[in-house]
Amino acid sequence: MNVTNTFLKYVTIDTESDAHSTQTPSTSKQFDLANVLVEEMKSLGIEDAYVDTYGIVYGTIASNVDTPCDTIGFIAHMDTSPDMSGKNIKPRIIEQYDGNEIVLNEALDIRMDATMFDNLNDHVGQDLIVTDGTTLLGADDKAGIAEIMCMCAYVMEHDIPHGTIKIAFTPDEEVGRGTDHFDVEAFGADYAYTVDGSDIESIDYENFNAASALIDIQGSSIHPGDAKHKMVNASELAMEFHSLLPTKDHPALTQGYEGFNHLTYVQGECEAAKMEYIIRNHDTNLFAKQKEDFMLIADFLNKKYGSNTITLSIEDSYANMADLVRTKIEIVEKVEEAMKQLGMNPKNTPIRGGTDGARLTYAGLLCPNIGTGGFNFHGKYEFISIQSMEKIVKLLVKIVENNTI
Ligand SMILES: [Zn+2]
Repeated sequence: MNVTNTFLKYVTIDTESDAHSTQTPSTSKQFDLANVLVEEMKSLGIEDAYVDTYGIVYGTIASNVDTPCDTIGFIAHMDTSPDMSGKNIKPRIIEQYDGNEIVLNEALDIRMDATMFDNLNDHVGQDLIVTDGTTLLGADDKAGIAEIMCMCAYVMEHDIPHGTIKIAFTPDEEVGRGTDHFDVEAFGADYAYTVDGSDIESIDYENFNAASALIDIQGSSIHPGDAKHKMVNASELAMEFHSLLPTKDHPALTQGYEGFNHLTYVQGECEAAKMEYIIRNHDTNLFAKQKEDFMLIADFLNKKYGSNTITLSIEDSYANMADLVRTKIEIVEKVEEAMKQLGMNPKNTPIRGGTDGARLTYAGLLCPNIGTGGFNFHGKYEFISIQSMEKIVKLLVKIVENNTI
């Protein structure tokens, strides 16, 4: 099984998810890939492979050693982001990238170079798979699936000694529902790794704490000619609310471990207005402080303009898995060790988002993340290096192999 061909095959199957759909999985076309994967797993010898009614693919490779060892899970997601079309993807391979501008689409004048994306500088000399500029590529996360499948094929074909290996491919990660129906108990792994993300030398286990805030503002509309001491303009209160949030917490001013409040939606008239924010921070205390800012501002404006002017509701979305993973940090160290054996330089990067692994960790399955080698996800500039994919297949095999020692 060749990882490049496997990847190129998967990206031709459209699996775009849909945040506005109420069905599970959000788009039934995700079953198209799920069914292909079940067939391929069976032909590899993973006899129990199946897709459940929620569109999750599960499979097991039974241990071939007598010694007791960990049951390790590997997980990737099948859907692609609704941010850009995942239909009719026409990938192109650029052999031995020379570091110059890449013309993705001459007719549409779509190009990329290292001044736009400095990550291209790290890939000079490698073979890159790019889009034709009209779709995303789908390396997020079909590269993860291809890498896991090729690891399975390699381990079975070469009779590599291994403990029990559990595989799962989930739908709807991109719309935040990837693990809603994931059966951690039935999966039965001691811990797992998601293979999703970018840098192949990064083993990540810190993600944001995340919440969303909804703000409904009740104004009082009256003809502006008769408005003196009567009008309360809800749109202006929305602006006042926003202006009271700390300026430093704007996403465009943050990086690394710095959290943010991001205004994702605003709609307003004189009578009523509505705002939606997402709130993010790696640090639990700072995260709580950010949520408190919203509450204090709502209280302040309600005192100023009347008690039912602002209605605020804050809902937690997911939490940072770091504290839980640190209770069994050896599962991160095992990956670092395998990387070193392959001549890689392991590092941990704080994820400025969430992962399926964060939810699974809180559901009882510790689940750090391994990169796939793909970059610039969710858009037409997405690309992946063939050498990176090959390296990740080797890394996954190494993790499995080390588990029996
Ligand atoms: Zn992903």
